[in-house]
Amino acid sequence: MFQLRDKELARAIVEQLKSRDERLTVMHVCGTHQDTIVRHGLDGLLEECNVNIVQGPGCPVCVTTPREIEMAIALAEAGVTVATFGDMLRVPGAETSLQTVKARGGDVRVVYDINEAVKLAEQGTEVVFIAVGFETTAPTTASVLLRELPDTFSVLSCHRVIPPAVEAILQAGEVALNGLIDPGHVSVIIGASPYESISRRHGIPQVIAGFEPIDVLMAVWMLARQVDEGRSEVENEYSRAVSQEGNQRALQAIDEVFEPVDAAWRGFPVIPDSKLALRSCFTEHDASRRYADVLAPVAAMDFKEPPGCICGDVLRGVCTPEECALFAGKCTPQHPVGPCMVSREGSCNIAFRYTHD
Ligand code: SF4
Repeated sequence: MFQLRDKELARAIVEQLKSRDERLTVMHVCGTHQDTIVRHGLDGLLEECNVNIVQGPGCPVCVTTPREIEMAIALAEAGVTVATFGDMLRVPGAETSLQTVKARGGDVRVVYDINEAVKLAEQGTEVVFIAVGFETTAPTTASVLLRELPDTFSVLSCHRVIPPAVEAILQAGEVALNGLIDPGHVSVIIGASPYESISRRHGIPQVIAGFEPIDVLMAVWMLARQVDEGRSEVENEYSRAVSQEGNQRALQAIDEVFEPVDAAWRGFPVIPDSKLALRSCFTEHDASRRYADVLAPVAAMDFKEPPGCICGDVLRGVCTPEECALFAGKCTPQHPVGPCMVSREGSCNIAFRYTHD
């Protein structure tokens, strides 16, 4: 086990990477990794080592589709109490946002966890919790749904799962990748196993990494070593937190409550089995069924990205935030045009915070 702030080790990794001839392009799918990379200047350092590191769809608020945002807005406009995390309020919809609906008198509540939404529902208010997040947050939603709940509480599930998105990126082949850094938090829940078939099918090296700068550097070095040795395996740099099989209790709760369904992600076409929908035995707490009359018109409509916003391309790792003509001009964290500038896990927000704040 290495020291997490071991400068000598960091220097040795950089020297070894610099001694290689072949350029590497590596993708990660995690907002926390992106924060570490930009905050500590690892992107520039790795570029000096001939390594290009790009962020994929690692921000849960960002990958939530415009249609799902509109559904939340429609519920609030229909008089239902909508409870969700703060970032979701500021994501611009086609005409308005949850924040604007709240300012106009809609009952939109910011909660820090799903239990606050349940407490509101226990007071007799009809509450819909907008559940966003990957495998990291889905177990909490699942564990609440497994409890006895008031009739007034329901969930609009926007939960997504990471491995199908990784698979979709590799299948599309828009970015020529030499390796993937897999997300630490998600992997604590799902373990290393789900990535193995992806490496076999696509011949791509993967390394599960933690969130210290040295973790990211080590993961890149491990990927480089796999490339140089002609291997395509899943290695676990974050073994201090991630096991092979993951957190079985959390996985069981997810499986009991949710079933995987095909779904679009922002910037992506439909990705098979990539969204977690409530199983039919939870119908009474499933907002998509309970409020089907409010949501059906929204489900039938087409929604485009805000004009000029290239969040979809950013989420697929095809463009950087700085390549967007609106970045840091018309689009800032104070006045976000797209979700990647709203969420602190979004690439545009992270790029802005560490270069303009
Ligand atoms: Fe969208 Fe703003 Fe990012 Fe451009 S800078 S891609 S408008 S969020």
